[in-house]
Amino acid sequence: MAWRQPEIKRTKTVCTYCGVGCSFEMWTRDRHILKVQPVVDAPANGISTCIKGRFGWDFVNDRHRLTMPLIRENGKFREAGWDEALDLVARRLLEIRDTHGPQSIGFIGSSKASNEEAYLTQKIARAIIGTNSVDNSSRYCQNPATKGLMRTVGYGGDAGTIEDIQKAEVVVIVGSNTAECHPVIASKIKAAQKLHGQKLIVADPRKHEMADRADIFLQGRISTDLIWASALSRYMFDHDLADTEFLDQHVNQVEEYRRSLAPFTLEYAEEMTGIPCQQLIEAAEMIGRAESVCLLWAMGITQHTHGSDTSTALSNLLLVTGNYGKPGTGGYPMRGHNNVQGASDFGCLRDFYPGYESVTDDAARRRWAKGWGIDKERLSDQVGEGNFRMVQSAERGDLKAMFIIGEETAFADADTHHVHDAFTRLDFMVVQDIFLSRTAEFADVVLPACPSVEKEGTFVNTERRIQRFYEVMPPLGDSRPDWRILTDLAARMGHDWGYTHPSEIMAECASIAPLFAGVSYERLEGWNSQLWPVKADGTSTPLLYTEGFNFEDKRAVLFPLKWQPPQEAEDNEFDLMLDNGRLLEHFQANNQTGRGPRFWSQVPSWFVEVSPELASKRGIEDGTWVRLVSRRGEIEEIRALVTDRVRGNTLFLPIHQGKPGVNALTGEHHDPVVDTPAYKETAVRLEVLPRD
Ligand code: SF4
Repeated sequence: MAWRQPEIKRTKTVCTYCGVGCSFEMWTRDRHILKVQPVVDAPANGISTCIKGRFGWDFVNDRHRLTMPLIRENGKFREAGWDEALDLVARRLLEIRDTHGPQSIGFIGSSKASNEEAYLTQKIARAIIGTNSVDNSSRYCQNPATKGLMRTVGYGGDAGTIEDIQKAEVVVIVGSNTAECHPVIASKIKAAQKLHGQKLIVADPRKHEMADRADIFLQGRISTDLIWASALSRYMFDHDLADTEFLDQHVNQVEEYRRSLAPFTLEYAEEMTGIPCQQLIEAAEMIGRAESVCLLWAMGITQHTHGSDTSTALSNLLLVTGNYGKPGTGGYPMRGHNNVQGASDFGCLRDFYPGYESVTDDAARRRWAKGWGIDKERLSDQVGEGNFRMVQSAERGDLKAMFIIGEETAFADADTHHVHDAFTRLDFMVVQDIFLSRTAEFADVVLPACPSVEKEGTFVNTERRIQRFYEVMPPLGDSRPDWRILTDLAARMGHDWGYTHPSEIMAECASIAPLFAGVSYERLEGWNSQLWPVKADGTSTPLLYTEGFNFEDKRAVLFPLKWQPPQEAEDNEFDLMLDNGRLLEHFQANNQTGRGPRFWSQVPSWFVEVSPELASKRGIEDGTWVRLVSRRGEIEEIRALVTDRVRGNTLFLPIHQGKPGVNALTGEHHDPVVDTPAYKETAVRLEVLPRD
């Protein structure tokens, strides 16, 4: 009989990297990924993808994938069967709950896993353990943006779609290296510049690609964005550019807010930010006179001690100029992970059930208890701890156990020395992941999960768009989809949920959470998508606030603010500020993009960017070995890259760089409103090492 190659299989999937949510066909033969084929029907990206979505799949078949559960014994991992591992996890979690109380256990859900898996993570935490200490990596990135939007317009998500960003007359990008971190959105903006003369304003301490393409580039000092944003708001009022009709009809606290702007003169803004008055006026005039403005921001704004306030200031500016509720307008925090929006939407937050209903709201608690078939008293009415606080509690000895799914907390949390110390103090730690991550190295039990291509589910992208992804290939070895692991674990803890497919999990959530009332797998079939809030009849909401804001009286709120200095700044000993962020070719802790040679050939070694001014003062050239030292730790040696992308005494370090990583340098100071670490407020000193 003639041997024949199996047929090429084409399966729709959704990218597992950034929050743009590109979907495409994956062509496979058995486990071989032959190619990624974009299709015109893809709702977020059409035929566009970036190199990570197109080529970043070597990790799926990497030989280091976990394929068996691991149990630590005498300090070493040994392989175990699923029954033994899950029985052990169930028994230890229940013992710790019964001995130390529900608040002694914390859960971190994955912002890479599906919505259904996020939902089950928080359901185990809340309905079985009885704690609201459940969180996801948005605590490290976009929680301040969510807070800023919730304070002013009500929903913690992008106001519109990528199409709205394309439609805008003016796009403002603040603290976001969009071309490298959200490449497909950047390409849409570049196209809009060409096609309809869209204007672009970029504000950033670092001159990245979009800054080069901007009509106006505001290169201010780190941690001063609230000042220029508020000065622009004041300018609008002072120069008849505020949309007074919109403010009268739709916004509360206008006068109180206006009074709060008194200190924010252009002169003060210039002095504090270093941005010349004339540039601020040009930016204000461009924004104030435009018919439609979209404002995008990311970690350059949020990862500061006052990231929530700065996010609020940006949303205030949009309100003052009437830029909400119309096509081509609104605030757009750029979500970093493929499903960091969904992990939050589906309840992996210390203070919200799925769909952003407060855990302190008695009616919501009653409805969720009823939906889950448990007594209301089983659900805690106390706000839990986020991941940043969990680590601190573990270090104090108050938190006894952690269950971490697909997150590199040991690498991603600030001041990793503390994090590692905290993990060693836990009585019990479970990590569920596809690789033996740096975090998993601290675990007592490691459960092997599957990446998205080996399971079904849904993700939410930065637009609030829910999309299905399908199983491209079966799970590798004995690994299992997270939703199946969590369902099996719950059964061993006495809660037989009986899910046989993720669609049943989504159906349950939709039946309880009003925000997702009309979400269903049938409506999401194929290339279809839904954008929350989704009404019971399945109607999506691509553009928010067309019928008022998400407050009881439907009116937005202008939120008065004061600028406060960062908690860490340069001094004589640590005289440079360290900025940090992503590169196009890599992703987060590099656990996926670091597999195989493909992306390493693009970025063969790590580097720290040094400005030409600083380089000339210190005798640094491209390739000079340097040491970076902060109050917490050091990176012993790294090569310098001299570039005018950074200015003066600011350095830039990619966050992906290996051991010990940027968080050996960052500190525990954080935004007091949402506990997001101030990664961008890190003072360091640079020591030039002797030449090779
Ligand atoms: Fe994936 Fe983001 Fe690239 Fe799209 S832009 S292919 S979602 S990494």
